[in-house]
Amino acid sequence: METFVIQNTNVILTDSIAENMDVVIKGGVIDGIFDNGKRSSMGNEVVFDAVGNYLAPGFIDLHFHGILNFLVDGGSEHLENICRELPRFGVTGFLPTVGPLPEGRDADFLNSLSALESKAAQILGFFLEGPFLAMTGALPPEALGKASAKRIRYLVEAASPYAAVFGVSPELDGILDHIPLMAEGDTPVFVTHTAASVEQTLAGIRAGISHATHFYDVFPCGKETDPGVRPAGAVEAVLSEPGVSVDFILDGEHVHPVAVKMALEGKGPDRVCLITDSNLGTGLPPGVYKGVGDSEVEFAYPGAPARMTSNTRSPGCLAGSGLTMDRAVRNAVKMLDIGLPLAVRMASLNPAQVLDIDGKKGKIQPGFDADLVLLDKNLEVVQTWVNGKNVYREVK
Ligand SMILES: [Zn+2]
Repeated sequence: METFVIQNTNVILTDSIAENMDVVIKGGVIDGIFDNGKRSSMGNEVVFDAVGNYLAPGFIDLHFHGILNFLVDGGSEHLENICRELPRFGVTGFLPTVGPLPEGRDADFLNSLSALESKAAQILGFFLEGPFLAMTGALPPEALGKASAKRIRYLVEAASPYAAVFGVSPELDGILDHIPLMAEGDTPVFVTHTAASVEQTLAGIRAGISHATHFYDVFPCGKETDPGVRPAGAVEAVLSEPGVSVDFILDGEHVHPVAVKMALEGKGPDRVCLITDSNLGTGLPPGVYKGVGDSEVEFAYPGAPARMTSNTRSPGCLAGSGLTMDRAVRNAVKMLDIGLPLAVRMASLNPAQVLDIDGKKGKIQPGFDADLVLLDKNLEVVQTWVNGKNVYREVK
């Protein structure tokens, strides 16, 4: 079994940074972490000098639509390109997000995607943003389906061998009865696109909802029913339940950083994640990009959100972000005034926990998969490995 050593690196651990270390990888798994030079060489090993750069666990994006003109909704060739390109941004695993389609076509399409086996960034399941939502946001009207066990079963089958992670609005008529079916096999169920009441949201959580995605976005404020009394709704219900995790699009426009800080204070450091919810022009120069259907979005500056153009149904409306996971981590350090270990944890261990794979992904620790990203002092990606295999190298 080949031994690979990343030497002279500052290892980002869950709560701290271990400086000047050597990380030994065997068979795609982290075998040991040693003080630089304090280990006896096994002879037959490949050594890479990290010249003091940071080594972080690979980033896991729970909500991702597209990048570099490729869109998950564009089909399996697009998805294949996405898997190959994502390590450039430090991503080693993700949930490709599938937009809603009419019943029947959705399962066929998902089936065509789930035939793919990635050679680079790993597919960790598919996030289905629709058809069980009560509000469209920037999604097409097919997002607003009817709760149906038959349709859920078809979609689960179509996603196999990957998990189908459903996004639901708890106020959708009849959905509460179906959440246990979505949650079978410890599959997480996400709440999103919702104006549910406190009671509806808590009932959804009791039924199996475990995570809230693009929290605060398409979670509108309730109406004041008693003058002067601040209404409570899905946001307050999710914040009140310590077991429910949340994720944010931290680009400075989708959510105020203070709302992310509030979630970190309330939920603690292990229940808040960073996502991109990125749209197809992400990673390209600012400008106008055309997607599937009538979608046309504009990015005003690098890392800016995608906004619908004047040729669309809702001009100016937010339609996902221009974030990449490495930029989200840099934003977290800057906008939340937190240390690098916590920012990295929000992009690696915490999403791994949402997917219940935190026993093997999200940490640099012996026994964990060698899904790793090397970051320079400015937190730009230098190299990325998936299961110990190099899948991205910066070209200077
Ligand atoms: Zn989305």
